[in-house]
Amino acid sequence: MNLLKQVFKLNKLDYVKILKKSLILVVAVTIVYYFLSESNYQNKISEYQDITRITDQTNANYISFSVNHYLADLKDDLFILKNSDEMTAYVNHQNTTNLEEVESLFLRFSHNKSDLSQIRFINTSGMEVIRVNHLDDPVLVSSMDLQDKSERYYFLETMQLEDNQVYISKLDLNIENDHIELPYQPVIRMSTPLYQQDQLIGILIVNLNAHHLLNAIFASDHTEYSETLSLFNNEGYYIYNDNEDILYGHVIDDRQQYQLTQAYPMINLLDNTESQSITVDQHFITYIEIDPFKDLNAISSNGQWLIVHETNLINVIPSNHLLLTLDIYDFMSLIGIWLLIFLAVAINYIYRREGFKLNVVRRIADETSDAVVISNENQIIEYANKSFFDFTGYEQDAIINQHTRLLKSQIHGKLFYQKLWEHVDQNGYWQGILWQKKKNQLIFPKHMIIYEMRDHKSRHLTNYVSLSKDLAANGAFIQPNISLNDLDSFKQYLNQDLIESFLNQPDFEEDKLFGSIAISLNQNDEYRQFAEQSNQSIQQSFVEFMQSCLETHFGFIVRISPQTYIVAFKNFNHEKEVESFIETCFSQPLIQISNKYASFLLSFHAGIAITSKFHHDYMQMIDHAHTTLQYNLTYQKQNIAYYSEKMENTIAREKEITYHLKRAIDKNEFYLVYQPQINSDTNEIIGYEILLRWKNEVLGLISPYEFIRIAEERGMIIDIGYWVIEETFKHYHEMNLQGKILSINISPIQFLDQKLASEVSYLAAKYDVNLTNIEFEVTESVLVTDFNLAQNRLKTFKKLGISIAIDDFGTGYSSLQYISKFDVNKLKLDRSFVKDYQPGDELFIAKHVINLSKDLNIKVICEGTETIEQINYLKSIGVHIFQGYYYAKPMIFSEIKTYEQSFK
Ligand code: C2E
Ligand code: CA
Ligand code: CA
Repeated sequence: MNLLKQVFKLNKLDYVKILKKSLILVVAVTIVYYFLSESNYQNKISEYQDITRITDQTNANYISFSVNHYLADLKDDLFILKNSDEMTAYVNHQNTTNLEEVESLFLRFSHNKSDLSQIRFINTSGMEVIRVNHLDDPVLVSSMDLQDKSERYYFLETMQLEDNQVYISKLDLNIENDHIELPYQPVIRMSTPLYQQDQLIGILIVNLNAHHLLNAIFASDHTEYSETLSLFNNEGYYIYNDNEDILYGHVIDDRQQYQLTQAYPMINLLDNTESQSITVDQHFITYIEIDPFKDLNAISSNGQWLIVHETNLINVIPSNHLLLTLDIYDFMSLIGIWLLIFLAVAINYIYRREGFKLNVVRRIADETSDAVVISNENQIIEYANKSFFDFTGYEQDAIINQHTRLLKSQIHGKLFYQKLWEHVDQNGYWQGILWQKKKNQLIFPKHMIIYEMRDHKSRHLTNYVSLSKDLAANGAFIQPNISLNDLDSFKQYLNQDLIESFLNQPDFEEDKLFGSIAISLNQNDEYRQFAEQSNQSIQQSFVEFMQSCLETHFGFIVRISPQTYIVAFKNFNHEKEVESFIETCFSQPLIQISNKYASFLLSFHAGIAITSKFHHDYMQMIDHAHTTLQYNLTYQKQNIAYYSEKMENTIAREKEITYHLKRAIDKNEFYLVYQPQINSDTNEIIGYEILLRWKNEVLGLISPYEFIRIAEERGMIIDIGYWVIEETFKHYHEMNLQGKILSINISPIQFLDQKLASEVSYLAAKYDVNLTNIEFEVTESVLVTDFNLAQNRLKTFKKLGISIAIDDFGTGYSSLQYISKFDVNKLKLDRSFVKDYQPGDELFIAKHVINLSKDLNIKVICEGTETIEQINYLKSIGVHIFQGYYYAKPMIFSEIKTYEQSFK
C-alpha cells in the first residue's frame, strides 16, 4: 500500500522516466499479446472453418436427401396419376367423357398437392390437352389458353422415353406466354410418356413448385455466421441463394434471351480447388456437390448441384474489435497489462531509487574524510566507512558486528560516557572531543558527533551514527598554511582528559622527569606527493619511530599540523638521561620514514621541554616545547633545541609583532623613506631606493630587518608589498624624476606571486606611472629556486619597462656566472663588502665582481657606504654609483626637495 502511495506521489519527471522505461516493455508485451491474439484469432477461424465444413456436409446430405425425397414423392405422384383408372381409360379411349374424368382427377389431385404448380397432359403433337394450374387454388385452364409445347425441351426429351421411364427437367422458371412468369416460379418438371399398347399418345407432366422445396431446404440452414448459402447448378448458375439482392437465376435451357441468371463469379476457383473450401479476401467459401437425382432412375438434364456456403470471416470475429484483431475484451485486458507494467516499473523505480539513495549515502560516506560509523540500537557496528578503516587501521572483519566499546580509549572515565549517552538520549545527539583507540592501541583525539536515528513513524530508536573528524590528522583543526605557531587552536581541542590519562597511566612515576617534544618534519616535494596518497601510513611510520626510540618512556603522540607532532615522554631520572635518549633518537640529521610503498629521509627540527614540577600544568609544558621548536626553526636552526626562558622572550616578542603587524596597514602605521643613489662621477642623483618604515604605538619604530621576516613567515608580506608599490606610485608625479629610478624592494614571496605583474600594471595605469622609472630589487635567492619561473617573471617585468637590480649581492650564492643568464640591470654590492674596510685594504672579491659586471654590461652600485675612504677606494676599482649614509640617510618624502636643492 505504501508503495502504491509512493507511486502516486511521484512527480511529473519521475513519471516521464517511468513511462520511458515502461515503453519498451509495453511495446514488447503488446506485440506478444497481438501475436497471441492473432493466433487465437487464427485458431478461432480454423475452428470455425472445421465446424462449417462439417455443418455444410451435413447440410448437403440433408439437402440431397430432401431433394431426392421430394422428387421420389413427385415420381410417386406422377405414377399415381399415370396408373389411375381415369388416365388409363383416357389412354384407351380418348373421348370427351374420359378427358373430363382426367381433368376432374387432375383438379382433385392438385387440390391436395399444393406444391404441384401444374399437372398437364400434352399430346404427341406438343399441344397441351389438359392443364391444371395451382397458384392459389387448382384451376383448369380453358382450352383457349392451352399452348403448343412442341418446341420445349422437356416435351422433346420425354417423347424419347419408353413407357415407365421418367424425365426430370432442370430447375427452371415458369414461362407464361413466352415470358418468365413473375414472381419467379422455380419449377422442376417431371414427365413420363403415355402409351396405348405401343402407341405413344402423349406425355404426362407435373411441375413441382421448387419454392417449397428450396425454402424447406434452406430453412434448415443453421450455420452460425452464414452469409450466403447458395445452390448452383453444374454450370454455375444460381439455383437458390438467400441473398435478397441476387434474384433467383435459374437457367432456362438454351433460350438465351431469358438469361437473367447470374453466374457465380468464383465458380472457376471452386473447380480448381481440391479441397472443399477456399478463402478468398477474407471470404471463407465451402462448396459441396450433391446429386439428388442419381437414385431416382430418371432421365435427367440436371447435372450435380453445388451448395456454396460463403462467410465473410470478418463477421466471424465479433464485430466490436478495436485494434486489428483485438476486440474490446482483448483491448481492455491489454490496457490492464499496460497499467500493470507501468506499476511494476514504477515500483521497481522506487525501489531502485531507494537503493540508489542508500548507495549514495554509502558512497558519500566512503568519500568523506570524516570517519563514519553506523551502529544499531545496541551499539553493534553495522557499517563503517573507508576513512574510518584508514584512520583506525582496523580491517572490515574486525569491526563489523563488534560492539563500539572496542574503540574506547580508556582516557575517558565511566562518568564521561554516562554523560555522553544521557546527552544523546535527551537531545538526540552529542558532540565533543572523544579519544579513540586505534588498532595499534594508540589513542587519538577526534571531534565526534553522535546522532541517534529513529524510525520516523514509530519513533523507535534504530541506529546511532557517528561522524568524527580526526583532530590529529592533516589540517583537521589547523590550516596547513598557518600551521606553525598556532598551538592555541590546537589546545582548544586538546582535552584535559588526555593529559590526565597520561599523568594517570599506571606506570607514570610522579617524582621523575617528564616532558614533551615538539617536532617538525621538513617535507620535501617527493614526500609531499607521496603524503597526498598515503598520509596515514606516513604518520603511522613516524609514530612507530618515536615509540621505538623512546621505549618505555613513550607517553603519547599527537599530530597538530601536517608536519608538526607533539610527543610526550615520561619517567626519566635526570636531564642527562633525557638528553642521551634524545641524542640517540635524533643522532642522524635525517629521520627515515617508510612504509611498504616508499621510504624517505626527512630533515627535521625539534623543540624539547622537560619538567618535573608542572604536574598540574602539562599544557604549559607543551607550550614550551612548541615555543622551542619555533625558536629553533627561526633562529637556532638546529635539529634539536632545549627550552630556555630567553626563547620565551623572543617568541613572545615575535608574537607581539605579529599581532600588531596584522593591523598595521589598517591603522596606517607604515610610511616610506627614500634613500638617494648617487653617481659620484657626474655628481648626479640617479634615483632613490624606497624603504619601508613601521611605527607602532606600542612597540615604537621597528626595523624592517625584524618585521619583514615575520611578515614573510606569516604571509603578510604580499599585502604590505602592494601597499609599498601603491604608496610609491601615489607620489610618483610629485617627484621631479626626469630619468631617475625608483627602486622598490620585492620580497621573494611577492616575486613569485602570479598577480604581481598585472597588479603593478594596474596600479601604474591608475597613477599614470611610467614603469621605466621603476626598478625592482630582488635577492639572488629568487633566481635559484626555479630557473624557468624566474626567467619568465623577469621577462614579464622587462616587458613592462621595469628594470631589475640584484640586492645584497655577496651574501648569498654570489654567482655572477649564474646571474648573467638572466637579464638584470644592476648589481647591488652588499654593505658587508665595505663595512670593515680600512684604508689600504684590497677588496679582491669586489674587484673581481666589478670587472666581470663590466664584461656583462651590468651596472654596479655599492650599498652602505659611510665614509669617503670607502668611496674613493671603490671608485678606484671601478664603482661609480653609491648608496649610503655618506651621501644621505633614507629620508621622508617632504625632505626630498630640500635635499635635491642642497645637493646641487
Ligand atoms: P636593504 O634592501 O639592503 O636596504 C638597505 C638597508 O641598509 C636599509 O635598512 C637602509 O636604511 C640601510 N642603509 C643604507 N645606507 C646605510 C649605511 O650607510 N650604513 C648602514 N649601517 N645602513 C645603511 P632598512 O631600511 O632598515 O631596511 C632593512 C631591510 O629591510 C632592507 O635591506 C630590505 O631588505 C628590507 N626592506 C626595507 N624596506 C622594504 C620594503 O619596502 N619591502 C621589502 N620587501 N623589504 C624591505
Ligand atoms: Ca634593497
Ligand atoms: Ca641591500
